[in-house]
Amino acid sequence: MAMQTIHAAPEYQSVNPFDGKTFESFAMTTDAELEAKTAAAQACFETWRHKTYGQRAAIVAKAAELMAAQFETFARLATLEMGKRIDESRAEVKFSASILAYYAKNAERFLAPIKLNPEVGSAHMECSPLGVIFCVEPWNFPYYQLARVAGPQLMAGNVLMVKHAGIVPQCAIAFEKLWIDAGAPAGLYTNLLIGHEQSNHLIDDPRIKGVALTGSLAAGKSIAARAGANCKPSSMELGGSDAFIVLEDADLDVAVEWAVWGRMYNGGQTCCASKRFIVVEAIADEFFAKFRAALAALEPGDPADEKTTHGPLSTEAALVQLLEQVNVAVAHGAKVALGGKREDRPGSFMQPTILTDVKPQNPAFRDEFFGPVALFFRVKNEAEAIALANDSDFGLGGAVFTKDEARGQRVASQVETGMMFVNNLSWFDADLPFGGIKYSGYGRELGDMGIQQFVNHKLVRCGKFDVPA
Ligand code: NAP
Repeated sequence: MAMQTIHAAPEYQSVNPFDGKTFESFAMTTDAELEAKTAAAQACFETWRHKTYGQRAAIVAKAAELMAAQFETFARLATLEMGKRIDESRAEVKFSASILAYYAKNAERFLAPIKLNPEVGSAHMECSPLGVIFCVEPWNFPYYQLARVAGPQLMAGNVLMVKHAGIVPQCAIAFEKLWIDAGAPAGLYTNLLIGHEQSNHLIDDPRIKGVALTGSLAAGKSIAARAGANCKPSSMELGGSDAFIVLEDADLDVAVEWAVWGRMYNGGQTCCASKRFIVVEAIADEFFAKFRAALAALEPGDPADEKTTHGPLSTEAALVQLLEQVNVAVAHGAKVALGGKREDRPGSFMQPTILTDVKPQNPAFRDEFFGPVALFFRVKNEAEAIALANDSDFGLGGAVFTKDEARGQRVASQVETGMMFVNNLSWFDADLPFGGIKYSGYGRELGDMGIQQFVNHKLVRCGKFDVPA
C-alpha cells in the first residue's frame, strides 16, 4: 500500500489519523499575545497565592465535576485528534477528573506544616507556591497529562501556562475552557499554541518559576538544559522501555492478558507500556504462542467504534518512524515473528508486531518503540531476567509475573526503575506517584510527591539562642 502524505510541521492542526482528514488548523499564539498572557498569569498568581485551600478547591473540584459530566464530549475530541480507542478516551477523561478531585480533597493535608524536633527551640517546615509554572505536554494522553500538572499545581497556589503537543489543539483548548467554565480567575490556566523557540524564550522569562515536561528524551534534554541554564527547577517525565518479566511460576493466562494490554493499550503509545517481554525459558514457548495468537487476533478499525480492538497510531509521521525502527532492527539481525508492516488499509495503522533475536548491538535493543511493537527475549532464570531488565538506558516502570508475590516483590526491588508492578500493570490511581530514573527523567507526578515538585519547602525556626562564640 502506498504511503500517505506526511503532514510536515503541522503546527496545531487537528488531523484524524483514522482517515487522514484535516479538521481544523489553529493560528499560533503571537509573541505579543504570549507577553500579554504571561503578564496575566503573573498578575493572577499575586492573588491566587493568597487564596485558602478551600477557595482553590472550590474551583478545582468544580473543574473535576464538569469534566466528569461532559466526559463524552472530551473523549470524542481525543479519539478524533490522536486516534485513541473511544473506550480508552472515556476512561482517560474520567481518570483525569478524578485526579483533579483528588488534589482538591487532599492538597491541604499534603502541604500542611511539618513540626521538626530540634534540640532547642521550635522549628517547622511550611510550603508556599513558587509562581507561574510552564508545562510542556505530549499528545498521547491529551487530558491526563494536563490533569497531572493542573490538579496539584493549582491547588499548591501556583499558576499554569501550558504548551500542549501540536497535534491535539482541540483537546488543549477544551481543557483551558474547562477552567473558565469552573470559574477560574483570568490567567490561572493558560493554553499556549506556541513553537519550540517561543517555548525557550518563555523558559528564560523571569516570571516563569519552574518547568515541567512530559515527552521524549530529546525534548527532555533540550528543555532541562534551558531550565538549568536559568537555574529553574524542572521535572522531566520522559520515555521508557519497560520490561515485562514472566517467571516460570507465573499464571500464564493472567500474564498473557496483561502482556497484550501492556503492549497494545493506547495503541502502544504509552510511556510505561510494556516494551520488552523477558520470559524464563521454562515457560517461554507457551507464553509466546499465546501472546502471539492474542496480538494476531486484534482487528484494526475505527477508534470511534466501541467494537474496534486496534486503533491507528497518532499520526502518519509516527507510523513512518515506527516502520523505520522495525526496518533498522531487522537490518541488524532481528526477526519478525508477527506483523512488521503497516496494515493494508487506509489510515495510519501499524500491524501488531513481535521482534525476536534483538541482540545488544542492535539499535532496537536500546530504543523506545512507541507503538504496537513488542521485543521478545528468552532468559534462563530470574537472575538473567533482572540483568536484562536493567540493561536499559531507560528506567520508568516494569512488571513481574509470578504466583509467589513475595518473590515478585524481591524481583521488583532489584529492577532499576521508578515504578514496578507485581502481577498487574495497574498504574492508574491518583495516589500513586508516577515517574522514572535514568533517561526516563526525574521528579514525580501524582500522589503526595507530585504536589511537592514546585513549592518552596521553607524552614522556620523560633527561639532565643546565644550567638555562637
Ligand atoms: P515529544 O515530541 O517530546 O513532544 C512532547 C511535547 O514536547 C510536545 O508538546 C512537543 O511540542 C514538545 N517539544 C518537543 N521538543 C521540544 C523542544 N525542543 N522545545 C519545546 N517543546 C518541545 O514527545 P511525544 O512524541 O509527543 O510523546 C511521546 C514521548 O513522551 C515518548 O517518549 C513517551 O514515552 C513520553 N511520555 C512520557 C510520560 C511520562 O510520564 N514519563 C508520559 C507520556 C509520554 P510539539 O508537539 O509542538 O513538537
